[in-house]
Amino acid sequence: MAESVLSISGIEKTFHGEGEDCPALSGVSFNVASGEIVCIMGPSGCGKSTLLRIIGRLEHEDKGSIRTIAEHVGEGVSAAMIFQDHALFPWLSVEENIIYGLRLSAQKIPDTEMQRRVDDLLSLIHLTSFARSLPHELSGGMKQRVSVARALAIRPSILLMDEPFSALDIFTRRELEDEILRIRQELKTTILMVTHNPEEAVYIADRIIILSERPGVVAGIITVTLPHPRSPADPDFIRIREEVAGRVKGRNEVGCAIQHE
Ligand code: ADP
Ligand code: MG
Repeated sequence: MAESVLSISGIEKTFHGEGEDCPALSGVSFNVASGEIVCIMGPSGCGKSTLLRIIGRLEHEDKGSIRTIAEHVGEGVSAAMIFQDHALFPWLSVEENIIYGLRLSAQKIPDTEMQRRVDDLLSLIHLTSFARSLPHELSGGMKQRVSVARALAIRPSILLMDEPFSALDIFTRRELEDEILRIRQELKTTILMVTHNPEEAVYIADRIIILSERPGVVAGIITVTLPHPRSPADPDFIRIREEVAGRVKGRNEVGCAIQHE
């Protein structure tokens, strides 16, 4: 087994509202190995996004620890996040959107190196001829590929993706899933991805972590050893997909009635 690049231990998180506390995560622990693709699944509102935000340091845990082992020592970057809605700046070109992430990061990167990285990433996502295009000139799938490139630009030791493809149609989604598998193959990127789609999880994951209803605890871990490329029509694939779907229970929204006014 490759060494762990991420080690999560005993994560607790409660949101405090007016009069009502909303426990979101309770004692969540797991490790992610270097180069592994791990999918997180669970009923709506069970704390998947909260967990990802905590790992990406966009939210504070109440208790527990997160240890990331940066592979690029000295660059000081551990995790990069990709959201469902791609979050590109509409007034910046594809190239400028990718560079933006680099400029924001604490890394001191010379301009020539920056341009080289952007060119490499554009070629990786097959968008070299769209370098100067604006986001509105791209399809949904192309925009999401740009946000993947932007996240990869800082060379994170782990890529965090929160339902990144759920707004895309099934064909574009499959294309992007294949792209993620190819990027992992080429760059050995470690990927932690939230999805509510059992087929997607079985298609790309090495392991699937299933959280219970809120407050989320790890209710099960399913290891998928099918060789790539995987076929959703394969009987073994279907059997694992059914098992995953069956273990992700309580599909109703279980959010707390916290007033935000
Ligand atoms: P999931 O991504 O699994 O659907 P979330 O992590 O978004 O779930 O939310 C988990 C629970 O925490 C939900 O009940 C949600 O209403 C609550 N929650 C999330 N963020 C906040 C917040 N900023 N303030 C209060 N409650 C929140
Ligand atoms: Mg969510």
